[in-house]
Amino acid sequence: MTCRVKFMGVRGSIACPSPDHVVYGGNTSCISVTTGAGELVFDAGTGIRGLGRELLGKGCKEAHLFFTHAHWDHICGFPFFTPAFVPSFRLHIHSARLVCTPDGIRETLVAQMEPPNFPVPLGIMQGIASHHAFDVGECIEPYPGVVVRTAGLRHPNGACGYRVEHGANAVCYITDTEHVPGQPDEQVLSLIRGADLVIYDSTYRDETFSSKIGWGHSTWQEGIRLAQAAGVKQLAIFHHDPESTDDVMAAVEAEAKAMWSGAVVAREGMELSYL
Ligand SMILES: [Zn+2]
Ligand SMILES: [Zn+2]
Repeated sequence: MTCRVKFMGVRGSIACPSPDHVVYGGNTSCISVTTGAGELVFDAGTGIRGLGRELLGKGCKEAHLFFTHAHWDHICGFPFFTPAFVPSFRLHIHSARLVCTPDGIRETLVAQMEPPNFPVPLGIMQGIASHHAFDVGECIEPYPGVVVRTAGLRHPNGACGYRVEHGANAVCYITDTEHVPGQPDEQVLSLIRGADLVIYDSTYRDETFSSKIGWGHSTWQEGIRLAQAAGVKQLAIFHHDPESTDDVMAAVEAEAKAMWSGAVVAREGMELSYL
């Protein structure tokens, strides 16, 4: 069973369109996972706008959207996700009960579109079929044969990591999360064990990490260490700092590949497929 992962937005914090962010892209977090059973989407950063156009363009009628947490860079594209406005579409929204969203993300999505924040309310989105709030650690089966496992991440206000299993494939989405140097995160290790692909919060790098303690993010070197320790086949360096221009990211890509051939730097529009 083929599983296709497409990176629709790879930035953290804030979108950064500019001539210096053309190669790796400027949109914020959004991942499309297409399985033979159906469409999955992770986060609704600005990258979800283009995904909406793609899904409608190929006649898609249903999708399951999973949020990691409610920070702006992961939700601000949602009001521009056109399938949610199509009455015949069936969008199922999943979110964890976290510190600041004890009932899941629904109220945050409502507030984001309340006046004077946005011209139309969430209620106008007739394509939303359901909201599902869960506790981290729960397992979800959005389509028959597709299992989504969850785990809590270390992040201000909380965040939820995901592992998608379909047939023999396993793809993990681990953002936003902060590591403690020298102490591999056991929760993350057990969620990503043996996965084909792990998409990991690599906002920073080890050399400058000491000045970012408490900001809720990790480094690409920690991503490689975790991937190697957990027997992961491929690591996608993700959630790039908006300050990291294409030149900076190209240098990271060269360094990361030299450290481990299984590392790749996520670029907007990049697709990875697993059989
Ligand atoms: Zn983020
Ligand atoms: Zn965050």
